[in-house]
Amino acid sequence: MFKHRSPSQQEKILTLALRQIEIMLKNMQSDGKDLSRLKLKKFQKTHHIDCSCKLCKTAKTKNDPRLRGLLEDGFKVYLPGSSKDS
Ligand SMILES: [Zn+2]
Repeated sequence: MFKHRSPSQQEKILTLALRQIEIMLKNMQSDGKDLSRLKLKKFQKTHHIDCSCKLCKTAKTKNDPRLRGLLEDGFKVYLPGSSKDS
């Protein structure tokens, strides 16, 4: 389904997502919660280093780890310096 989205549609979705997150965080802050230390990062877990699937083979040939197969792909909200950062 989302493979067929046009780039401009993708942009709209990203803008919408940004707005939603901003509004949500702002509302929480208005409620008196201190979110100033909150950080958001892109989170990707690639296949095992010895994996030999098509994607990982390509990544190895082109020497580009970003091309490797993905186990997980998402976002992580975290606090810098917090002890549990798994
Ligand atoms: Zn793989």
